[in-house]
Amino acid sequence: MACTVPPKSWEGGFARPSETKLWADENNYVTETGEQAHYKLPEHTDAPTSTIGNALGLTHYRTWPSLYDGTAYGRPAWFKPAEEVDVLICGAGPFGLELGMVLARQGVSFRILDKARTPCISGRADAVHPRANEHLHAWGIAHESTNEGPLINSTAVYSKGVKLRHNNHPISDSRYRGSSVVTQSQLERIYIRDLLRHRVLVERQTLVREYQVLDGKEAHPVRATLTNIATGKEETVRAQYLIGADGAASSIREQMKVEFDGLATDIYWAIIDCQFNTDYPHMYGMSMISSEHGGCVVIPREEGFTRFYIQVNGETARRLHQRRDSRRNNASSVGTMRIDDHGITPDEALDQLRNIIAPWKIDFASPISWFSVWKVNERVARHFSSPDLRVHLGGDAAHVHSVLGAFGLNSSIYDAANLGWKLGFCIKKQATPSVLLPTYDSERRLAANRVIRCSGAHLRFLCNSHLPLASLRGLHDELESHDDRLPPLDGSIEAEKQFMAAFYKQNVGFLMGLDFPVVESAITRPDPETRPLNVRNGARAPNPRVCFDVERTGYLYDKMTGVTRFHILIFASDLQGPVRERLAAFSRKAFRSDGFFNAYGGPDRFNVLLVTKALPFQATDLLAPQLGQDDALKNIRDHATLIYDDRPPDADAHYWYGVNHARGAVAVVRPDLSIGVSVWPEEVERLDAYFGGFLVKQSLARAGAEGGMARSRGVQSLTDEVIVEEKSRAAAAAAGNGSAMHRPKRSLRSWFTGLLAM
Ligand SMILES: Cc1cc2nc3c(=O)[nH]c(=O)nc-3n(C[C@H](O)[C@H](O)[C@H](O)COP(=O)(O)OP(=O)(O)OC[C@H]3O[C@@H](n4cnc5c(N)ncnc54)[C@H](O)[C@@H]3O)c2cc1C
Repeated sequence: MACTVPPKSWEGGFARPSETKLWADENNYVTETGEQAHYKLPEHTDAPTSTIGNALGLTHYRTWPSLYDGTAYGRPAWFKPAEEVDVLICGAGPFGLELGMVLARQGVSFRILDKARTPCISGRADAVHPRANEHLHAWGIAHESTNEGPLINSTAVYSKGVKLRHNNHPISDSRYRGSSVVTQSQLERIYIRDLLRHRVLVERQTLVREYQVLDGKEAHPVRATLTNIATGKEETVRAQYLIGADGAASSIREQMKVEFDGLATDIYWAIIDCQFNTDYPHMYGMSMISSEHGGCVVIPREEGFTRFYIQVNGETARRLHQRRDSRRNNASSVGTMRIDDHGITPDEALDQLRNIIAPWKIDFASPISWFSVWKVNERVARHFSSPDLRVHLGGDAAHVHSVLGAFGLNSSIYDAANLGWKLGFCIKKQATPSVLLPTYDSERRLAANRVIRCSGAHLRFLCNSHLPLASLRGLHDELESHDDRLPPLDGSIEAEKQFMAAFYKQNVGFLMGLDFPVVESAITRPDPETRPLNVRNGARAPNPRVCFDVERTGYLYDKMTGVTRFHILIFASDLQGPVRERLAAFSRKAFRSDGFFNAYGGPDRFNVLLVTKALPFQATDLLAPQLGQDDALKNIRDHATLIYDDRPPDADAHYWYGVNHARGAVAVVRPDLSIGVSVWPEEVERLDAYFGGFLVKQSLARAGAEGGMARSRGVQSLTDEVIVEEKSRAAAAAAGNGSAMHRPKRSLRSWFTGLLAM
């Protein structure tokens, strides 16, 4: 929240403003005989949300140190951080916390530390894109980020008092129809509560003083010296991987000696969260207003608050520039300024806003919730990963840009979604690090470069700036060149309208996070000439509405949650006609003991969904053996969750994915919800080759130990598999495969005893 929500009471059945804070009422902590509840009301503090107020005062925000301040509040007995962990995360802003959440969902051990005493109190990032909410949904917490503030689903653009456009955001197949407003402080608290559920506390007032990476053959080659800046105490932690999540002025990036390519603009924003009195007509949607005095952006917020980004220019900007330059001590000139050292007052910022927004009038209507000044830098780290793949950067440590497009926080979610599953797979020895981990740098760095171009073009338009865009490096270290040309601006309103129309046409999907650059690799296969789907490999997997059973409908992504599995979408049309034979081939080949499904982890690794045009009462019969024929679809029936695709042909899942009803298709969706590869159903060998390109074969013992397998499979298929496994071991032993020979042998009986005990 931009402020503490005033108390309400529900007496009489309706929520009404109340003087009493019911949660603080002592009577709620005692029985009728005076016995105290075991649960105690935790301490709270009412912290000011801004270092500087207006004539109406300052807003305060209620926060709960025992919940949110991690070790700065104390160390509970259950919290015993290990000296050796899989991952050490330096920085507990949005990126570090998000990565922690993804790792926690994979059972990976990690420590997360931050030099600050508390999470962010107010301000900073302000909205979550539809795509970012799709990731939060896969992690099980999207309802938390979407229910805090208003939805932004329209944008008005004005120039010199003339409306250039006012549109609702386009409808897509995402369940999220716009950006959800949520303050960074609130989001960090949502994440911290999530980590607490996983027994993880943020270690506060702690930083990585230095680190080194020893010989890569060591299981935990990263040695990091941590310093507690409150006590001065030092300790050494060993980790497999170190993550630089320490923001724009990243000390990890500096220690990696990675260049922060790009430029520092001369554009400053004064940012104010407050309630306003104004006759400006679009306070409940997003607006951008350009004028001869500079530009501003309007974002509606929680509890009737509005955020204004106000371009500071002229003499004030020059003054700010001089002050900041004189205090610069970081090569990249990023993040070195104390954010409360504003150099401009809220009243001066309001005067500037009045100039920009004229002829409309505006005034403060409440104390200020947040005030800050932000200089726009446009930079991308030259490498997101160290050459030995042991240290990775993400979030602001890897890229910074203007606030236009709200890419800061959202990019941190995309980085975490991309890196998190890859780290988890490598740590759990399910994937080959040298193949999988480099794809984090190539995919996310090129996405960051695109942010710089998109956000930069937007910024220059709004602020009448002619500063050239930063030159950034693409793959293989070469400077990128692009044809993102937009219509020229000649100062006329007509040219501005054309510019904005072209800009949105080019970027609308990217601005919602639904489009992103595709980089071919082992996990994103090049498209063949005739593709089984209309959606290209590497793109976001569409999320159409579907039916789950006779009483429940939803979105396809509702069955694609979690971060540990690939989703195998089998598009089966109505299960009849020529498609049936092809599905039979898939059913036969995919689930063989040496097919990708069993070779790389079974149901722990693959979530198989059969998307069919058959209705629920038809599908069961159609999947059963047909009279006088083989039980051709048995394996699909045994392993797949059925999805009924009963919307009309111009809105169903087969349409969104662009499937041929006579041939069917199989799409592999990566754990970060983009398409890795698609094949015709009978081409199972291509899936074997795809997964064989980066996954590590799993023995049944290892896969079964992960838990899901034994519980979710029939005894008969287990018997088959154990026999096949035993046979293949024997064959490997006969062929002189040493590693197979040294595996402990187990009898069929001991397998069963073990499995039944789970
Ligand atoms: C003043 C300001 C205003 C902003 N306004 C907006 C906005 O209006 N809209 C928007 O979209 N984005 C805004 N951003 C950007 C947005 O906050 C970031 O893009 C987003 O938070 C990225 O998250 P992150 O975790 O990568 O970095 P951060 O949020 O910066 O988190 C980094 C964390 O690392 C910690 N840390 C730093 N150094 C060390 C160290 N040496 N050791 C240990 N811990 C360390 C910090 O305490 C912090 O908790 C703003 C940023 C700033 C600084």
